[in-house]
Amino acid sequence: MNRRTFLRSTCLAVAAAGLGVCPLGTARAQDQAPDGAAPPGAGLSIEDERFVRPAMFYDRLEGGIVRCRLCPRQCEVAPGGRGACGVRMNRQGEYMTLVYGRVTALNNDPIEKKPFYHVVPGSMVLSLSTAGCNLSCKFCQNWQLSQFRPEKVEARYIEPQTLVALALKNDIPNLAFTYNEPTVFYEFMHETARLGHEAGLRCTVVSNGFTSLEAQRKLVPFLKAYKVDLKAFTDDFYRDYCHGRLKPVLETLENLVGLGVWVEIVNLVIPAANDREADVTAMARWIKTHLGPDVPIHFTRFRPMYKLQNVPPTPVADLERCCEAAKAEGLRYVYLGNVPGHPGGDTFCPRCGRLLIQRTGMWAVENHMDAGRCPRCRAAIPGVWS
Ligand code: SF4
Repeated sequence: MNRRTFLRSTCLAVAAAGLGVCPLGTARAQDQAPDGAAPPGAGLSIEDERFVRPAMFYDRLEGGIVRCRLCPRQCEVAPGGRGACGVRMNRQGEYMTLVYGRVTALNNDPIEKKPFYHVVPGSMVLSLSTAGCNLSCKFCQNWQLSQFRPEKVEARYIEPQTLVALALKNDIPNLAFTYNEPTVFYEFMHETARLGHEAGLRCTVVSNGFTSLEAQRKLVPFLKAYKVDLKAFTDDFYRDYCHGRLKPVLETLENLVGLGVWVEIVNLVIPAANDREADVTAMARWIKTHLGPDVPIHFTRFRPMYKLQNVPPTPVADLERCCEAAKAEGLRYVYLGNVPGHPGGDTFCPRCGRLLIQRTGMWAVENHMDAGRCPRCRAAIPGVWS
């Protein structure tokens, strides 16, 4: 069965089960939900109790107020109110998630699309999202999902065990929590990952890294890989473009690497916003010092999006300069992303230079790895290879 046939059969199975969208031929280099997956204003009622479950990680304060500990925002929410992410609500002093099982997109993607380049190349991943986010990036690629309250986004109710069964039935070996920020649907993700892990699926997270360390620790035992967007290396950028902060994301990266889950980093390079060479160099130096030289970093190409329609696409030469700066700091696996066919998307042995994995767009088209090693010099290449 070739890839297209495989995709088609899987998507048909998804559709036949009435389980949401699964478009064919998604030729996107970023981990991005399909156009039209979630038109605003077409959602299900927020009163539908199937989606409402007790939240994890919060404290009760005086006057019925709750303080959420799920992410570094630590929202304090009065009765009847919601946290900044818009998907967690204080109901008479009890904090509730509104997005349990509230699936807004469901696709069978190549794992390179997440992007994971050191996780079983060429394998497929059942990828799902809900709605909402705890950041508000001006360049969000999935803003139709992330920047609306859940009642404004088209969705279906799907239970965790149904998702796991769907992956198994279609021989999809991986699960990914992705498209919108998985932190905000933590309870649903946690249960799905727990069941998926028990069933032998590799569970992965694609995140902005803006998550409490406490929540990460409780989830990581069920995970194989975690992709973190490191959006820039300045607090100013996080504040001005994302309504966030840099430090918690760095703490996330250190925590995840310390916990032993496989981590890859993505830095979307936006012209005249986060592309200063000195900042890229400082980022690479920090990664090498705090995480080690083997954590892959992907410098990916920006395209005009959401509130940054007036910013041009990143020149390829600028991406190449970012890659060179990171390599000069000693990082061993530096990738250039979102430029299909560019050799910067291939994996080379850092010891002897042998081509190990060749990629075109989001596909691994050649894989010369031998049981996690370079076939020529036998150097061990870090990652999740089986
Ligand atoms: S997860 Fe949502 S409610 Fe909780 S602290 Fe973060 S933004 Fe606030």
